Amino acid sequence: MPVIREDTAGERSQINKATGGESAGRIALPSLAGALANAASGNHRPAISSGTGCGMDDPIVRSHALSLYYGQSQALTDVTMDFPRHQVTALIGPSGCGKSTFLRCLNRMNDLIDGVRTTGSIQFDGRNVTDPTLDVIELRRMVGMVFQKPTPFPKSIYENIAYGLRIAGIRKKAVLDEVVENSLRRAALWEEAKDRLRESALGLSGGQHQRLCIARAIAVQPEIILMDEPCSALDPRSTTRIEDLIGELRGEYTIIIVTHNMQQAARVSDWTAFL
Ligand code: ADP
Repeated sequence: MPVIREDTAGERSQINKATGGESAGRIALPSLAGALANAASGNHRPAISSGTGCGMDDPIVRSHALSLYYGQSQALTDVTMDFPRHQVTALIGPSGCGKSTFLRCLNRMNDLIDGVRTTGSIQFDGRNVTDPTLDVIELRRMVGMVFQKPTPFPKSIYENIAYGLRIAGIRKKAVLDEVVENSLRRAALWEEAKDRLRESALGLSGGQHQRLCIARAIAVQPEIILMDEPCSALDPRSTTRIEDLIGELRGEYTIIIVTHNMQQAARVSDWTAFL
């Protein structure tokens, strides 16, 4: 994998620089070194694994020997890694190595795909995510997801945010109003949206759509927010806003972000894992 190795090696200095210059930037450099070795050897097993002594005292998610098959085709092989609580972990790796697939395992989105089979385990705060008796709706409330392409519902801005609460049976207008405002504020969209809450969300820009989707995820008070290349469809300015937002949400939520951009991984994450 010479290309990956060259690219990764070329960006290492950037990561070192970011780590030294930003107090929040704590990149798992030993893991990155492991990643380089893995990339060079063609071994795409994750570089962070439990028990590596990287200071993760309180992991919120533990994946152990997780393998996933789409029918006969194996997409994940023995993924073992821990994710620290209330920190940002970036998942990087070559296209097709299974980053999105892994992310979808964390809230059982792969259940929606026919012929998917997994072995191994994922623990979320001690609960076995792969347990067939688990309440998947509740799991997805606690493990929210933001996709590569923003997915606003064809409803008003207000209803996009209130949707999850209404599903949960919350009807009181005062409660809904408060959650909508707080969520939009947390997602840095309130000032732009407060005078058009009843207008269609489809009228917002692409960058605003993505912040709306983050607000929608926040509204149901998740523990974890999964982000699958959330900036890849955005212009540089919108990308910066989302990256800033991730920085603001750090500490309150556990964020796991898939990105193909090494610089972005260095900018936004506390830990970097290589698949
Ligand atoms: P990444 O996010 O790292 O680019 P993906 O998780 O999208 O990788 O894909 C990993 C592998 O699984 C690829 O070989 C891809 O073709 C395959 N794959 C992804 N989704 C499906 C699916 N719904 N059905 C069958 N194969 C899939």
